[in-house]
Amino acid sequence: MPANDTTAVAIIGGGVAGQAAGIFTARHGLETVILDSGDSLLKRNAHLENYPGFPTGVDARFLLSQMREQTELAGCRWVDATVHQVNQAEDGFTIETTGDQLVARYVIAATKNSVAYLDHLNEIDVIQRGSKTFLEVDRRGRTTIEGLYAAGRLALEPHQTIVCAGHGAKIGFTILEDDDEPFYQDWVAPEGYFTGRGREVPPGCEEIDDKERINREAHSREALRAKLANPFPERPQQHPSVDDN
Ligand SMILES: Cc1cc2nc3c(=O)[nH]c(=O)nc-3n(C[C@H](O)[C@H](O)[C@H](O)COP(=O)(O)OP(=O)(O)OC[C@H]3O[C@@H](n4cnc5c(N)ncnc54)[C@H](O)[C@@H]3O)c2cc1C
Repeated sequence: MPANDTTAVAIIGGGVAGQAAGIFTARHGLETVILDSGDSLLKRNAHLENYPGFPTGVDARFLLSQMREQTELAGCRWVDATVHQVNQAEDGFTIETTGDQLVARYVIAATKNSVAYLDHLNEIDVIQRGSKTFLEVDRRGRTTIEGLYAAGRLALEPHQTIVCAGHGAKIGFTILEDDDEPFYQDWVAPEGYFTGRGREVPPGCEEIDDKERINREAHSREALRAKLANPFPERPQQHPSVDDN
């Protein structure tokens, strides 16, 4: 990370929840950094068969790679590192990795059950279930500390990819609302959908004509065909306690 690094939104945990949050905060103009140690639980899945949109299933590691590409296209910056500590600062938070520091106005914790990096925050409410720790949140993902949010499994959402991704997206929108960002929805609509009714295209939305729609569809089909031409090279990760030899 550069010295004196700052951002509007720091997302700790680049699994499905963190990535989904980042797509929306970055697309709507909030500078977003994703800090991730690279161990999404989804990498352990053998074949993902209940994520809507893939009726015959999809390789989970392929899906994660596509999410990452999408976050980068949206404008997220990635820091491949483990976060060791988060502290409250004058106007937000400081986030420490090994040897580096980032200052952020908002933090989204999306680290499944890992919370050691929040130990310094005395006012944070946690929920203990057996050996697992979760963060107490309101229905929009706000923790008991202003500016700190939790997304996905860490917020005690059901342990499913689509639910955790959807929750992450929702928390991204919570931050946009809390920050008073000008947006209506993140929609791409056919030409005339708003303007044909005498309305301005709302902030965050886009109208495209049929030529542009056909171009975009051709591009996405071509990209998917190339990406799916060969098996994804990574295999599932085993549970750390199982001998994988
Ligand atoms: C074997 C297995 C099979 C599964 N199969 C399915 C299935 O078929 N269908 C389904 O819907 N779900 C399945 N799941 C569940 C799914 O993987 C999880 O529900 C989902 O990944 C949770 O998303 P998340 O973003 O909350 O956490 P994760 O995706 O686990 O992401 C958490 C991220 O936080 C990062 N992180 C943690 N601590 C730090 C730190 N201190 N600093 C920086 N980064 C950190 C991790 O590296 C990780 O990338 C399966 C899970 C397992 C284990």
